[in-house]
Amino acid sequence: MEEINNPIIMVRMGEQTLKGRNRHRFERAVLEHLQWRLERFPHVQFEASYGRLYIHLNGESYIDIAERISRTFGIFSFSPVNRCELSLEAIRETALRLMKSLKDKPTTFKVSVRRVNKDFLHDSQSMNNLVGGYILQAIAGLEVDVHTPAVELRIEIREQHAYIFCEIIPGLGGYPSGTNGKAIVMLSGGIDSPVAGWLALKQGLELEAIHFHSFPYTSERAQQKVIELAEQLSCYSRSIVLHMVPFADIQTGLKELGNETLLITLMRRAMLRITTELGRQRACKAIITGDSLGQVASQTLPSMSVIEQAAGMPILRPLIMMDKQEIVSKARMIGTFPVSIQPYEDCCTLFVPKSPSTNPNPSVINRLEQRAAWLQGTMDEAIRNTVTVTITERMARETDSYF
Ligand code: ATP
Ligand code: MG
Repeated sequence: MEEINNPIIMVRMGEQTLKGRNRHRFERAVLEHLQWRLERFPHVQFEASYGRLYIHLNGESYIDIAERISRTFGIFSFSPVNRCELSLEAIRETALRLMKSLKDKPTTFKVSVRRVNKDFLHDSQSMNNLVGGYILQAIAGLEVDVHTPAVELRIEIREQHAYIFCEIIPGLGGYPSGTNGKAIVMLSGGIDSPVAGWLALKQGLELEAIHFHSFPYTSERAQQKVIELAEQLSCYSRSIVLHMVPFADIQTGLKELGNETLLITLMRRAMLRITTELGRQRACKAIITGDSLGQVASQTLPSMSVIEQAAGMPILRPLIMMDKQEIVSKARMIGTFPVSIQPYEDCCTLFVPKSPSTNPNPSVINRLEQRAAWLQGTMDEAIRNTVTVTITERMARETDSYF
C-alpha cells in the first residue's frame, strides 16, 4: 500500500446480509468501533450516509488508517475515493485527475459506472462512453481493454455525489465488535486457542480470556507470552480482559490421585469449572476453546464429551473441523503465530502423562473427583488469587510488561 492523495475512504459494510433495524445497529457498531480505533488521528471525520461510511482523512496518513480499517470486523471492503458533484463535467475532470495521478502509468483501462441514483441524467452505459472517451483523448498512449485492463476506473453515482476510484480492498467481513454478546476464551500459549478467540471476535462476540498457569513450575515468561497473544487479539477488538489463574496446586493435587492416564481429563474439567465460575461473574454466555477434533487425546469425541460435562455453559469450538494447516495459516494471517511458537511451556506440558486416555471412563472420573475432597476449596482459592488485567492494543505499544 502507498500513500495517496485521495481525501476520503469509502467503507462498505455487510449490506448484503442484513435488513432493517439489524442493519442500522450493525452500521452504528462499525462506526463506533472505527471512531474508537482511529481516535489517535485527530483530524479524521466520519460521515455515515445511505448505508456507507465515509472517512475524511483531512491530512492524516492513509496507510495507517487503512491498516486499522482492514483489521476491523463488519467491513466488507473499502476504497480510497475521490468525490465530486453530480455533473458530467465534474465526473470527467475528477476521473482524469485520478488517472493522471496513478504512479504506475497504466497502458490499458476500463471504465465501470454504477448508477445508484436513477435521477442522474446519463445511464451507466452512456457514462462509460462519455467518461472513457474523454480520458482516451486526454492521455496519449492509453487504450481500452474491457477484459484484462491494467486499471479499472470505477464511478459510483450515488444520492448526493459521485465517487471515483480504482481500488477495492477486501475487509475482514464478520460482525462488528460485541454485537453478538460476550464469551470467555480459554487461552493457552499454543497456536490454536488464539485463532479460536479471533474467530469468536469475528463473529461479533466481545471476548474475555482466561489462562491457567503453573507458576512456579513454569516461568513468568510463559505468562508474558499469553499476554502478548491477548495483545495481538486486542488489535481486532476494543480491549480484552484477561484472567490469569494459578493452577499449580490443582495440578499437583490431581497428579497425586495417581491415575496418570486420566490426568488431562481431570485437569480440563477443573479448568472448565473455574472458567464457568469466572465467566458467570463476568456475564459471559459461552466458553470458547481451541479444540480441533482428533488433534490430541483430549480432543477425541469421548474425551470431549466427558470433559464438557464439567462446564456450566455452552462450549463453542470454532476450530473443531479445521486441520492444523488451516489453523496455522489463520494464525499467521492474524499475527499470533510468531508469538505462539515461542518455546515457553504452558501449564500442561509439565504434567502431560505418557499415554493420556482417548476414551476416559466417566464413572472412574466421578469416583476420582469425589475422592478429591480438597478440590473445590483449592479451585475457590485459585479463583481468589486470579490476577485480572485489561489488555488493549494501545497498552501493548506503551508498556513492555505488566508485572
Ligand atoms: P492450543 O494450541 O490452543 O494450546 P492444543 O492443540 O495444544 O491447543 P490442548 O492443549 O489439548 O490443545 O488444549 C485444548 C484447549 O484447551 C486449548 O485450545 C485451550 O482452549 C484450552 N487450554 C489448554 N490449556 C490451557 C491453559 N493453560 N489455559 C487456558 N486454556 C487452556
Ligand atoms: Mg496446548
